[in-house]
Formats: sequence, C-alpha cells, structure tokens
Amino acid sequence: MIESYVEIDIDKIIENVQNIRSINPDSMYCAVLKANGYGLGAYKIAEEIEEFVDYFAVARLNEAISLREAGISKPILILGAVYYKDVKKCIDYDIDIPIFDLNYAKKINDYIDKKVNAHILLDTGMGRIGFRDFEENEIRELKSLENLNIISVFTHFSTADEADTSYTEMQHDKFKKIINDINDAFDLKFVHIANSAAAIKHNISKDMMRVGIATYGIYPSDLLREENNEELKQCFSFRSRVIFIKDVEAGTSISYGRTFIADKPMKIATLSIGYADGFIRAFSNLGEVLINGKLCKVIGRVCMDQMMVDVTGIDVKVDDKVIIYPDIYKEASKIDTIPYELMTSINLRVPRIYKKSGKIISIDNYIGEIYED
Ligand SMILES: *Cc1c(COP(=O)(O)O)cnc(C)c1O
Repeated sequence: MIESYVEIDIDKIIENVQNIRSINPDSMYCAVLKANGYGLGAYKIAEEIEEFVDYFAVARLNEAISLREAGISKPILILGAVYYKDVKKCIDYDIDIPIFDLNYAKKINDYIDKKVNAHILLDTGMGRIGFRDFEENEIRELKSLENLNIISVFTHFSTADEADTSYTEMQHDKFKKIINDINDAFDLKFVHIANSAAAIKHNISKDMMRVGIATYGIYPSDLLREENNEELKQCFSFRSRVIFIKDVEAGTSISYGRTFIADKPMKIATLSIGYADGFIRAFSNLGEVLINGKLCKVIGRVCMDQMMVDVTGIDVKVDDKVIIYPDIYKEASKIDTIPYELMTSINLRVPRIYKKSGKIISIDNYIGEIYED
C-alpha cells in the first residue's frame, strides 16, 4: 500500500503543451523542468514529452546533467548561474548557459577551451540576474570572447500574471530596443521572453516560449485562471490514505501543542501525510482535504508524518483515499503562497506514479520500494 503519492497524467501534460502551442503556433516550446519538473519528476516527464517540445530549461547544472544522463537529447538551457569552472561540464554534456554579466563571461571564456552555447540574459525589470543596460562597449567585448557561441538573447517578466499590463509592456519594449541594437553584432538564432503568463495572457512569445507551470496545467495566477476558463488541465493529483479513525468527546485535544480542542463530540481521521511529505505545517487548523467527495478540515498541528482531519458526519473508513489540495489555488492562498511552492514542496519520500491512457506506465520511488496493493 502506498501511503501518500502523486499521480501524474502524461496525456494531460501533452494536451496542455498542444493547447499552449496553438496560442502561439510559430513559437518554439521550451518546457521548464526546473526543481524536478515543479515537483512532479523531471526525467519521466521530459522523456514522455520530448517529441512534442523543442527545448528544455532547468535552473541548475545538476538538473541538466541528470536529464542528459537519462537520455534526453533535445537542447537544454540552464536558467540560473553556472559556476565558471563547471562550464566545462556544460560543454561535455551539450548544455546551454545564460550569460548575465561581462566579468562572468570573461572568466568563462578564459577558463574553457571549447565553445559553449550561450544565451545573453537581459534584466529588463525582473531585478534578479542579467545585463541591466546593455552598452555598446559591452556588446563589443562580449563579441570578442571567442569561446562563447552566443545563439540567443532572453529576458524574464516579473508581473506578466497581473491585471495591470504596463510594467510588462515596458519590459517588452526595452527588450525589443536592445534586440534591435544587438541583432547585427551577434548571429542570433532566436530570442525568447515569455513565461507561462506572457505566453497565455499577452501572447508575447517571440521565437520561443519558456513554459513552466502551465505545462502542468496550473495557471500562474487566479486572474489567468479566471480569464481562461480553466482550459488547461491540471496534470497531477496528490493523494494520501486514512490510517485511523476515532470518536472523541468534547474537551479532547488534538496534536502537538493542543492548539485544537474539540468543543463537541467529533469523529477524527488520522492521515498518513505530514509536513515532511510537503504538506506545509502552516496548514495546521487551516487546510482542507477531500475524502469521499467531502471537504474535511485539518485540525490541530500538522505533524512530520501524520495529521488529523475532522470527518464528523462523513462516511469514511480506514484505507480510504484522500485528495490533498482539492483546489490548489485556494489552499495556497490560505497560507499566503502560490501553487508553485506547494508543488515543489512535495518531498522525495512521496512516490510519483505516471499514467498514460489511463494505465500506470511507471512509478518513481526516490526512497525505497513500496508495496503495491
Ligand atoms: C521559472 C522560469 C520560467 C517559467 O515560469 P512559469 O511561470 O512557471 O512559466 C521561465 N523563465 C525563467 C527565466 C524562469 O526562471
């Protein structure tokens, strides 16, 4: 019996990719698989969708190498910084890197002895990493670095999922202007700018869109979810199991710290999931799960491996399945976070079960084998 698990429907991911592609048919699709594919398992998803996408992006070198070692052959771009000495590994594994600073670029160029594929990263307003004002002399110096094969330029939006579009437009304009200035200097193969929000809401996609969260069928914000009538299909479901049920009298306290005390007789179920599985402790006395079609409140503090929910008046028995995050947007907002964080918090103790055409095609147990029922 698997205690808690995530079920991932590959068909829905492919449907989302095709759906988003149809918004921008001329644009290449870069599936963003950072943080283990937003918690859902990067390698398996990459393998299943490779034929439907053009590029993959991850955040770190180890993520990129693990995809290569698993046999992924489409281009892979790292979105975060790579330590200059590690760039040799990027050459060995044919992985693209971002260039976001002139000194960094020079250090890499001096250290490596073969060409690496590089994408110039512009900070047009995100305020994270990137060239801020790309000056004439910087362009000239970059161009002189013979070990950098500069194939692309990109930037990242900070507010593309919000109602006010003015900042996004400003970033877009800034990007277009810089591209005009540098187009002649480099032999650019393509440029890219859009995350999920920009690809869906603004239809700003340029030559390639970098689609993370929407690939998995989750909208970047409630606004986009409403505007698009939930056309994307959430591809995963996080499940757990009831392991114990008890009736308690008024006055009974539940869990650490006695933060919940029954004010009437109640029926309480214990679930085999806790914060170490990624069900964040801030959901104590706040979260809700779905059991047999009924919403049940989390009561008391979430423990490391177990938690309790109120099942008073609900038909439930031991071994019943539980749906964690019945509405992931609503649950995320309760603890002032976003679905991105809830997804990427799902711990490696939780097996990932992959389904295609309604059948289980594989199970990834990161920690130990599990017994099937
Ligand atoms: C994470 C990330 C993306 C994908 O963002 P989503 O909102 O998940 O689509 C795209 N580009 C960069 C640079 C990122 O860091």
